[in-house]
Amino acid sequence: MAIPEEYKLKCDFTIPERYKHHVLTNRKEPNIPACNVKTIPGDMTERGCAFAGSRGVVGGPIGDCIQIIHSPSGCAWYQWGTRRNLSDIYAWAGPNTLCNDSQNRRRAVTSDLLEKDVVFGGMEKLEKTCLEAWRLIPGAAGILIYTTCTSGLIGDDCPSVARRVEREIGKPVFVIDSPGFCGVSQSTGHHHFNVQFYDQVVEYREKHPEACMKEEEKGPYDITIIGEFNMDWDLAYIKPLFEKLGCRVVAVFTGGERLGNLLKIPDAKLNVLHCQRSCTYISDLIKEGFEVPYVNASFFGIEQTAKALREVAEFFGSEEMMEKAEQIIEYELEVISPAIDFYRERLTGKKVGMYVGGPRVWHWQRVMKELGMKVVFGMCTFAHEDDYEKINARAEDGVFLVDNPNEFEIEECLERFKPDLFLTGLKEKYLCRKLGVPTVNSHSYEKGPYACFRGMVNFARDIYEGVYAPVWKFARDKDFI
Ligand code: SF4
Repeated sequence: MAIPEEYKLKCDFTIPERYKHHVLTNRKEPNIPACNVKTIPGDMTERGCAFAGSRGVVGGPIGDCIQIIHSPSGCAWYQWGTRRNLSDIYAWAGPNTLCNDSQNRRRAVTSDLLEKDVVFGGMEKLEKTCLEAWRLIPGAAGILIYTTCTSGLIGDDCPSVARRVEREIGKPVFVIDSPGFCGVSQSTGHHHFNVQFYDQVVEYREKHPEACMKEEEKGPYDITIIGEFNMDWDLAYIKPLFEKLGCRVVAVFTGGERLGNLLKIPDAKLNVLHCQRSCTYISDLIKEGFEVPYVNASFFGIEQTAKALREVAEFFGSEEMMEKAEQIIEYELEVISPAIDFYRERLTGKKVGMYVGGPRVWHWQRVMKELGMKVVFGMCTFAHEDDYEKINARAEDGVFLVDNPNEFEIEECLERFKPDLFLTGLKEKYLCRKLGVPTVNSHSYEKGPYACFRGMVNFARDIYEGVYAPVWKFARDKDFI
C-alpha cells in the first residue's frame, strides 16, 4: 500500500522514487517496501558494498585465518579493530612471528594494487602477499583471499594463485569473489561468501577426508550455530545455554571460529540459524548437500531465547532435554527478573526508533515490548522482503518503515517521531548527539554481550543509561524534543 500523504518525508520531494521505500506496518496485510534494489542515483545511501558484506560481516569474524584483501589499500582501510566480533585465539611471539594468532580484528592484509598492477595484472603481487603474510604468521590455519572492484575488473585469476599458495603452505587457501560493484548492497556479499565458502569446504573435505569429523567422534546432539558473529562475546552467553541443554556446539559460522571446526559443519546433526538474512544460504546448502536440517532461532530477548531452547530440544525429541530446557528458562528468569523489572519500570512508554542492517529490526521488536518500549519507526540498510514480512508480523500496526535510508531521512524521522532512544550504528550517532537523541550502538554494542537472558540485562542497562544520562538536559535542543 502506498504511503499516506501525511507520512511523506519532505526531504524526498526531489527524489519521489524514494516513497516506494516507505511503508506503515500492518500485521494482517503486510506492507513490504521496495527493497534489495539498486540505490537511486542522487540518493546518498549509507549502504556498504558487496565486499563489505563478504569480508566485513560473514568472513571477517573467522579467528584463525589470514584474510587477504586483493585490492588497492583503500578497500582494506576499514577492516581491522572496527566491528567487535571477538575471538579467543592467542599465541606467543617468536622470531619473525607476530604475537597474536587471532586474525579477525588485529590485522588487515592487502595486496596494495597500484596502477601498474591494474595494467599488467596483480596475480604475482597477490601470490607474494600471501607468502609474505604466511611467513609472518605461520601459525594461521589457512588463508582467505577476497577480491574487490579493482581485482574483479582486471580479471585476475585468484583461484589459480590460491592453488599455488595452498601447495606451498600445505593449508587451505579459499577465494571469495565478491567485488564491491557486484550487488546492490552488502547483502550480496553475505550471499557470495556463503555459497563460495560452502563449495570450497565441500571440495576440501573431498580431497582431505581427515578434515571431516570421524564417525566415532560424532555425538547425538551435535549442533552448529550459524549466522552468529560473536559481537562483544555474545557466544559467552549462547554456547553455555546449549551445553546445559546437553548439546555439543561443533562450530559457529563464523564468530571467532577456527577454520578446522568450520570444515566440520556438515557433520553436525542440526544447524541453529540466528542471522536469517546473511546465513540462510549456507544453511539451505548444507541441508540439501548433507541432509542436515536447520531451525531458525533468535537469541535476543526472553521469549525468543526460550523459544530457541525449546525448539532445539523438540527437534531432538528427548524428554530429558525438553525438561532441561524448562529448568534452564526458569532458572535464568529467576536470575534476571529483578534487574529486568527495574529497567522495565523506568523504560515503559519510552519511544524508540531503530536503524540496523535488517534482521535486528525484527529480532528486537519483541525485545522492546519486553522492556515496555514503543517502536515508532524502523529502518533497514539491506533487508529483503522476508525481513519486512517478519517486521510486519512482530511490530505494532502503523510503525513507519524506511528501506535503505539516507541521512536526511534519518534526521527528518528523528524530528518527526521524537524518539527517546535511537538504536543505530556508529555513523549516525553523531547526528543524534547534535539533536539530543540518545543512541545505543546496535552493531557492536556498548557494553555487551546482548544475547540471551543475561545479555538482555546488559542491553536494558545500556538503554536505561542512554535514555537517562543527565547530559541530555544540557545537550537537548528545546525546540526539538
Ligand atoms: S570493493 Fe569496491 S566498493 Fe568496496 S571498498 Fe573496494 S573499491 Fe570500494
